[in-house]
Amino acid sequence: MTSLFEYAPAPESRSIVDVRPSYGLFVDGEFTDGTGSTMKTVNPATEEVLSEVTVGSSEDVDRAVRAARRAFTRVWGPMRPADRGKYLFRIARLLQERAREFAVLESLDNGKPIRESRDFDVPQAAAHFFHHAGWADKLDHAGLGPAPRPLGVAGQVIPWNFPMLMLAWKIAPALATGNTVVLKPAETTPLTALLFAEVCQQADLPPGVVNIVTGAGETGRSLVAHPDVDKVAFTGSTEVGREIARSVAGTQKRLTLELGGKAANIVFDDAPIDQAVEGIVRGIFFNQGHVCCAGSRLLVQESVHDELLASLQRRIGTLRIGDPLDKNTDIGAINSAEQLVRIRELSEIGEAEGARRWQPECTLPDRGWWFPPTVFTDVSAAHRIARDEVFGPVLSVLTFRTPDEAVAKANNTTYGLSAGVWTEKGSRILSITDRLRAGVVWANTFNEFDPTSPFGGYKQSGYGREGGRQGLAAYLQGDDR
Ligand code: NAD
Ligand code: MG
Repeated sequence: MTSLFEYAPAPESRSIVDVRPSYGLFVDGEFTDGTGSTMKTVNPATEEVLSEVTVGSSEDVDRAVRAARRAFTRVWGPMRPADRGKYLFRIARLLQERAREFAVLESLDNGKPIRESRDFDVPQAAAHFFHHAGWADKLDHAGLGPAPRPLGVAGQVIPWNFPMLMLAWKIAPALATGNTVVLKPAETTPLTALLFAEVCQQADLPPGVVNIVTGAGETGRSLVAHPDVDKVAFTGSTEVGREIARSVAGTQKRLTLELGGKAANIVFDDAPIDQAVEGIVRGIFFNQGHVCCAGSRLLVQESVHDELLASLQRRIGTLRIGDPLDKNTDIGAINSAEQLVRIRELSEIGEAEGARRWQPECTLPDRGWWFPPTVFTDVSAAHRIARDEVFGPVLSVLTFRTPDEAVAKANNTTYGLSAGVWTEKGSRILSITDRLRAGVVWANTFNEFDPTSPFGGYKQSGYGREGGRQGLAAYLQGDDR
């Protein structure tokens, strides 16, 4: 693929962020040593070790939950809602002030392009705190009863694909509604959560309101199983979500699950092709496709299939893959060696089952974990690549002839998180979106987010909503959940 012009490297400086050689846990307002072992977190673009973090033991989790309980009963629960709101506003402003630091650290630890961490993850995280800060003293007007009360201590477990943003989706509504929190970040991306702990100190947040316990699956398991946790919120794989649902069943704990997806992105023959191509690229290659609501199944009307595909391939040929800290990079590194293995395996299965793989010519860096943007054609609904969540930059293309067939194929999945529709006709948008079993449906756009808009799934994509007025209900006692 010849490019029109060459880009000079435009690297963001990493000197803005001060990564410590090791981190403890953030419990009761202070960084403390854990009683368990440690683990390393690496930069997936270089395999360089960034820091050593603590693996929280069940004892550590217990200490954090007790701190959260104390803070809930003595300080945060009784506090005037307007005062809670002030803390949230303060945190939101600090996130904005330190945005560049957060963005660089997120790209270092996760592998995502700085363009995305700078323009999406961090501003959205701040926006979630601003949004929820505004709610703190207006909960009586949220339509959830006259005086909705908090639940108590929330145990929250988040994934590695949007570390800082998922933290904000979890912590901001919990605090705004008067709950306190113990949060466990993912094992490959703990660093921005630890920087957030510093922001909590800087904001003078009372000790114990937010506790961060790093670790892997075992630490998450202890947190979810802790008897003094009132509410569990989880984002991650359907498999772990199922295990958590089993562990919580029969207890008084409230649970929300945000799991995987296999979204259909449906393009009708009257759609503006160039605009649709941009939406398809954004739908599947944003964040290396490590996105639960990624548009991983392209459903294209047969009559425009060839034209659309030619355009799409031309566009993909211009994507720049490489150094996440380069401001011109479109596609960064795959988050972990394990995830790369999974993407490779599913792609090989795709070929073995008879689909055709296409990848643009591109040179991948020698070190780190990389996978080129990939398109599979000749995909049938029975293929694994059409059913399983790849969670990587891999698009499966299927075709349809009629609107009914498009809807049937789109809904033919065990998931139901998101979907997209591309057409000039407003009436068609309304009739199709109505029939799609997906929590979020985008029309003539894809992967748009806003804190005022609830997000969540049907079927094996989980239950409960995050964001919007609906998201508050998950953290409040009341009849309207
Ligand atoms: P995962 O579900 O194993 O991990 C998510 C979080 O849960 C991490 O913090 C992890 O430490 C924790 N965890 C793991 N086991 C736990 C347990 N038994 N109890 C409590 N917490 C536990 O996800 P993964 O292994 O990182 O990724 C596997 C697949 O999951 C991906 O390939 C992708 O398909 C999917 N995934 C989806 C999302 C999403 O946003 N919906 C996010 C990450 C991964
Ligand atoms: Mg890392």
